[in-house]
Amino acid sequence: MFIISYYRPSVRFEIVAVFCYNKAMKSLHISAKIAHEIRAGKQLLESGSLAYEGSENTTVRLVDGSGHFVASAYISKQNKGIGWVYSLLDSPFDSDLLLALFRIGRRKRTSYENDTTTTAYRLFNQDGDGLGGLSIDRYNDYAVFSFYNPFIYAHKEMIAEAFRIVYPDIIGGYEKVRFKHQSAPESSHLYGKQAPETVVILENGIRYQVFLDDGLMTGIFLDQHMVRKALVAGMLAHKTVLNLFSYTAAFSVAAAAGGAQSTVSVDLAKRSRGLSQAHFDANEIPQDVHDFVVMDVFDYYRYAKRHQKTFDAIIIDPPSFARNKKKVFSVVKDYHRLIAEAVDLLPDGGGWIIASTNAENMTLRQFQNQVQKGMGSLPYTITRTERLPEDFAVNPANPASQYLKVLFIEVVK
Ligand code: SAH
Repeated sequence: MFIISYYRPSVRFEIVAVFCYNKAMKSLHISAKIAHEIRAGKQLLESGSLAYEGSENTTVRLVDGSGHFVASAYISKQNKGIGWVYSLLDSPFDSDLLLALFRIGRRKRTSYENDTTTTAYRLFNQDGDGLGGLSIDRYNDYAVFSFYNPFIYAHKEMIAEAFRIVYPDIIGGYEKVRFKHQSAPESSHLYGKQAPETVVILENGIRYQVFLDDGLMTGIFLDQHMVRKALVAGMLAHKTVLNLFSYTAAFSVAAAAGGAQSTVSVDLAKRSRGLSQAHFDANEIPQDVHDFVVMDVFDYYRYAKRHQKTFDAIIIDPPSFARNKKKVFSVVKDYHRLIAEAVDLLPDGGGWIIASTNAENMTLRQFQNQVQKGMGSLPYTITRTERLPEDFAVNPANPASQYLKVLFIEVVK
């Protein structure tokens, strides 16, 4: 720290300039166990395992019991975490760090960049790319930044500046504020050119109509692109498909493009119908064999049974907590009910269930157990398990960040 004093004989005053080097960063003592985990790559600082009483939204030096430096971290609340390690070096949180991380992140995704059939994917994924609290998605020539905590949000200008140096080809950015903030809107323009209200992106050669500045969602969940790829490749060709919790029916469009005989997309949000039709329109797929139903999934199960409808393939992708009129549906406890009801709608001889969940608090094993419970004594085979795709880089030292689980299940009835 340098202090510069300026003295004039007549009026005495001082200008004090404080140059904050990392030496000015406060130290936080951590246990040997946590120091070991951090050295092994873990970046998340969990509130349960660490007592911190200093100011929030600041950087700290983590030191072990004997006072040895372990890592540089920032403190900021994010779900169950109190902060993230951002470097194993004793260094400030600055644009050099961001430039290095973005450059590595870009290099990792060269295959995506060279793939002309896909123009939307994740460019930066939290601790999978070395910095928790930040994710960045590409939608054609635009970027969508997600800020997950106040510290990252407070550095958004520096983040955007570094990003623009590494991605000069991206002409504009939008931001999503994914933590409780008193005044910031959930979505707003961050830098550069404004995008049109809707943008048509390409994924595996299929068009999807997205919106970059309307709430937290954009009309497509990019993390499911491997599942959509399987559908586009014809996994459900000639089959009748039921898509539950369909949102904008991206799975239905992918299945239709892959030769599905017909699709029914069910979601209780009224808005889903128009957004779903927009995806189909973008690909000029006639909608005579593609239906959109605005209904609660459990009501639809009842309706379909009453009308003796069957489907060769049923896709189930609920939110972690689905609303079911008065009751709250918990994926962890109740997923088996969705499976059991779906089995009833498969024709004699059987069919396919594609069961998906993004619930972070549920392991793959727990999910498989829910499927087993829902199937009862029916024979079935899980032919494929899909996790997060490569662009959604995961830090192996933080298993919870591997949240996506999709099971392709062949059922014999
Ligand atoms: N499968 C979708 C994403 C699903 S997001 C995709 O691939 O894009 C979850 C959706 O479930 C939301 O659109 C929400 O409106 C819907 N939803 C929540 N509870 C529901 C219920 N009980 N019945 C029908 N839809 C429901």
